[in-house]
Amino acid sequence: MKKDCETCGNSFDAKRRTAKYCSGKCRVQAQRGSTGTTSTVVAFGIVPQLPAEPEPERRAGPLETAAFQELDAVSRAETLAGGVVLALARRIDQAGPDDTGSSFAALTKELRAALAAAVAGAEQDDEIDRARKQMEAKRRGRAG
Ligand SMILES: [Zn+2]
Repeated sequence: MKKDCETCGNSFDAKRRTAKYCSGKCRVQAQRGSTGTTSTVVAFGIVPQLPAEPEPERRAGPLETAAFQELDAVSRAETLAGGVVLALARRIDQAGPDDTGSSFAALTKELRAALAAAVAGAEQDDEIDRARKQMEAKRRGRAG
């Protein structure tokens, strides 16, 4: 009965139905090779089901880092207003400097106001507006 050797692929005359190799050499070779077989996972096509990652590791962008440092300097990083500032900074970082759309400008403006509000200790949204005015006033009469 003609069979193909599982090691070298040559067809050989098998004396037994279960024969798989043309020679003892090929059988030994096959057995040696089997020590380095693929893992059970690969062999059975089982992909381990990992729990969904909560969030991929994210590095703070330059603006977010700067905003955090500024907030941290006045111990405002952990406040609600501080969180708003960081969220805005993150969005601007993600948009990047290539985004020259009006939304980017609006975000930047919002960020500045939010930062001023956070630093001033404001914790309400309508404080942002006041802070913006304060900042404008400060800029106009910057003496010290
Ligand atoms: Zn062979």
